[in-house]
Amino acid sequence: MAPVPEDLFVEACERAVANNLEFVPPYGSGGALYLRPLLLGTGPEIGLYPAPEFTFIVMVIPVGNFYKGGVSPVDCLVVETFDRAAPLGTGAAKLGGNYAPVLKHSSDAKARGYPITLHLDSKTHTNVDEFSTSNFVALTAPSSSSSSSEEEAQPTFCAPESPSILNSVTKQSLVQLAKSFGWQVENRVIPFSEVTDNRFQEIAACGTAAVITPVKSIERGGVKTMIGNAKTQASIGPGFLRLFTAMRGIQNGDLEDPYGWMQPAQGIAHRHE
Ligand SMILES: *Cc1c(COP(=O)(O)O)cnc(C)c1O
Repeated sequence: MAPVPEDLFVEACERAVANNLEFVPPYGSGGALYLRPLLLGTGPEIGLYPAPEFTFIVMVIPVGNFYKGGVSPVDCLVVETFDRAAPLGTGAAKLGGNYAPVLKHSSDAKARGYPITLHLDSKTHTNVDEFSTSNFVALTAPSSSSSSSEEEAQPTFCAPESPSILNSVTKQSLVQLAKSFGWQVENRVIPFSEVTDNRFQEIAACGTAAVITPVKSIERGGVKTMIGNAKTQASIGPGFLRLFTAMRGIQNGDLEDPYGWMQPAQGIAHRHE
């Protein structure tokens, strides 16, 4: 596909927001205006060639509060009978073809009581890749030995390294926030055995729509591993709560944004009038 030049991409996003300001959910509602850029190829072509023409669309849609009624940790099922992405395939791209084939498996899982599904690496089924529509992130139990008595014990933020997962902008943002807290960050291969060995005190899915969805259990082949303790299974754990609060605080304009993530929408509106 023809890549969309960055300035055109950004301008299209700005215009979509500027022309739909009245659909931005009000401050304090917990809602957001979700932006969904989309690139599709079309043309009078039956042969297997790249499309002669591409259409770039930016859709916006107001979404409600993802966490109405509180953040409830979810049960997760590992998809064993289907691979989301080939080892050297297109798993790293937000590509329609990566999602439609998973729907059957995620719908079946939902019907069985698992709102979220996890994929292991397709080649060996031993390492964690990501959830069907979000990245896997985890916090190790805080090591009290590495911090002085006055300092709060600090977890390590872990995210899987894999050529088959999406490089989530939410994960990249959480990494920056975790570093700003002084936490260690590990981007590395994560064997699934670390999940079953209870190496992680908190596990969550992260992506633009919900930011963080805590996971309370992960089941694989009939074996269910509970994550963390009774507290983190009942509600979002302290580590991810801190990250979520910082992220939402910046998004809502309540906290200073030292990272350049925010753009004032009024300025956008005037520029494109
Ligand atoms: C959209 C998506 C994510 C999250 O990416 P963000 O850039 O944070 O929205 C992660 N994994 C998959 C498979 C996705 O489709």
